Amino acid sequence: MPEQVMGKYSQRAVDFIDEAFLLSLLDAPAPDKVYLRDIIAKSLAKQPLSVEETATLLHADAPEMVEAVFDAARQLKQQVYGNRIVLFAPLYIGNLCVNDCGYCAFRRSNRDALRRTLTSAEIARQVTALENVGHKRLILVFGEHARYNAGYIAQTVRQVYQVKIGHGEIRRVNINAAPLDIEGFRTVRAAGIGTYQIFQETYHHNTYARYHPANTPKGDYLYRLDGLNRAMEAGCDDVGIGALFGLYDWRFEVLSLVRHALFLQHTFGVGPHTISFPRLRPAQGVVLDEQYLVDDNQFKRLVAILRLAVPYTGLILTAREQPRLRREVMAFGVSQIDAGSRIELGGYTEVADTQALEREQFSLGDIRPLDVVMRELLEDGYVPSFCTSCYRLGRTGEHFMEFAVPGFIKRYCTPNALTTLMEYLVDYASPETRRAGMQRIKAELTRLDDDALKRQLFDRLENIQTTNRRDLYF
Ligand code: SF4
Repeated sequence: MPEQVMGKYSQRAVDFIDEAFLLSLLDAPAPDKVYLRDIIAKSLAKQPLSVEETATLLHADAPEMVEAVFDAARQLKQQVYGNRIVLFAPLYIGNLCVNDCGYCAFRRSNRDALRRTLTSAEIARQVTALENVGHKRLILVFGEHARYNAGYIAQTVRQVYQVKIGHGEIRRVNINAAPLDIEGFRTVRAAGIGTYQIFQETYHHNTYARYHPANTPKGDYLYRLDGLNRAMEAGCDDVGIGALFGLYDWRFEVLSLVRHALFLQHTFGVGPHTISFPRLRPAQGVVLDEQYLVDDNQFKRLVAILRLAVPYTGLILTAREQPRLRREVMAFGVSQIDAGSRIELGGYTEVADTQALEREQFSLGDIRPLDVVMRELLEDGYVPSFCTSCYRLGRTGEHFMEFAVPGFIKRYCTPNALTTLMEYLVDYASPETRRAGMQRIKAELTRLDDDALKRQLFDRLENIQTTNRRDLYF
């Protein structure tokens, strides 16, 4: 393991991506059925997998083995997350950026990018539009620029929480922004953020250097890799990791994500709250190198394999993907999706039904309204959830794991999903979605076996339908 370095880094800064070792795992032969079955059994027992075991799943590419991995991922999803899908929406605040990432329309060398930072009034308008369709959870997205320092991010978070319209309010604000120093993370934590996301984009050192020029802040591989260590040291214990699939060999990125999750678990006693696996998308002024592009079958496999490798980490599937594939992949262990998403600056009030690529970081595959996605989820047997109770009851990081591991959380997740769903149905849903949702709630109530909890839940659902009481969580 490379030696530790001090200074602008965390106490635990180390380059834990041992590339030669991870690449050597990719040369291993296909596993035999018995060994594959043992690994799947370990995962179904909700034990995280090692990188070596994850590599075995990557080599299990015979059709019947791929199917076995898919089946196990579906099973584990049901065991840990049930049929809930948590919903959120992205809100781009500003696209000024000093970096020059080769795959991004907001890179500094793209002179055609329409640069903008939402004003306070514009932020309020965007949040109001999101609340008026029923959203309760947002992720704020910022370019990397001195203007978007920790103080500005914290101020923006506070402003978003203050926007309340009717029964509308945002109850959890996550962040996707540049890595901060420890003091900066303390500042944003104090503003009440949920998850802080930093994607390494690619964990392959040479590829990283190829897409992130050394004379830009993002060119510092270790400073970025160490970013969430600093967040953890500052007390931000809900962190999100991710890789941009299509920059390098997807199998290497999967192993590296698992290595990163295990490193956080080992170092801080808690792994990442979420893992994201965005695929490269067309972007203004970007000529995509197609060498490592991930096809749909590989994408399904990487989601299923991540599900089995990190049983307790949320998996986020974004609207980069087309509706058809989202629908299919969700069954393999996805726990969170965005819906009704627009990523143009001002996109929730200023653009029509078609995307304005010149105002986007990349193009989206799914811009269907929230209500349409809600109905599809309900028809597919899912319970769409806007739950934020763990975060607001302090069940975060290691404390969340205390609840999650023994399976208790399930006793709270479904009831909380149902109360937030009822709020949506009563306050925002179309008649068709309301009908589908009421049927779903009825079906879920019959499945609850805890009578005392069922009575409490029934009272709350009744209250939401007949009074102005809202935000009734367990
Ligand atoms: S990916 Fe992010 S950091 Fe890189 S150029 Fe785009 S906005 Fe800037």
